[in-house]
Amino acid sequence: MRTVRRGDQAALAETAAVLRAAGKVVALTGAGISVGSGIPDFRSPGGLWTVFSPEQYATIEVFHNDPAKAWELFRALGKVLVGKEPNPAHRALAELEALGLLAGIITQNIDNLHQQAGSSRVFEIHGDHQHLQCLHCHSLVPVDPHLYQSTTIPHCAHCATPLKPNVVLFGEAVRDLEAIHAFVADCDLLLVIGTSAQVYPAAGLPSLVRQNGGRLFECKRESVLALSTRVDYFLSGAVEQTLPALVEACRKR
Ligand SMILES: [Zn+2]
Repeated sequence: MRTVRRGDQAALAETAAVLRAAGKVVALTGAGISVGSGIPDFRSPGGLWTVFSPEQYATIEVFHNDPAKAWELFRALGKVLVGKEPNPAHRALAELEALGLLAGIITQNIDNLHQQAGSSRVFEIHGDHQHLQCLHCHSLVPVDPHLYQSTTIPHCAHCATPLKPNVVLFGEAVRDLEAIHAFVADCDLLLVIGTSAQVYPAAGLPSLVRQNGGRLFECKRESVLALSTRVDYFLSGAVEQTLPALVEACRKR
């Protein structure tokens, strides 16, 4: 494994060359890529999960039994996400796609920031916070941010069932799993960005790529590797700096 530190142009050029030579590059992103947009990791100290315990607010059983309680969490989450904008790390991935060097993104985030940055191929494992879904008739409607200030629960216009934000709760199936596995089956390089990939299904993707002969880059703020699978290049440092630097190096060739 080679660690690429800030300012090490030789290491950066080597990393960029490996990326350019890879046939199919896919990114796997998590909370760490959105920290620079002002969205704290829910699991970090003071994060949402320390205020609203997942067992008491974020399971599908809680939503069925007491939607008002689940909506307390959704409102708090909505207030965190509303008005947030992509940061240079999101934009760097959109630029990689535009350069023809990134096939798509698999994200654990629900904040829509990859799409806002211009990425067009995004798998949202945990759904999105921009829509409400009816679990009864399966209608999907855009969320009105005013709801976050209200105390009432929205109901489906077709069948009057309480609406649920289109995010995957604990106890619900994750999204697009088959499509994601098909998408990474021929992946030559997986960029693991801002996630320790310890939670299923993201946890299985690095080793899957590795088994198929692909390479792994890990990009994260902390200086310690999180992946248990062997990593080829570790871009250490704030992803809002390391990813734009990598894209710049890819442009130079
Ligand atoms: Zn309905």
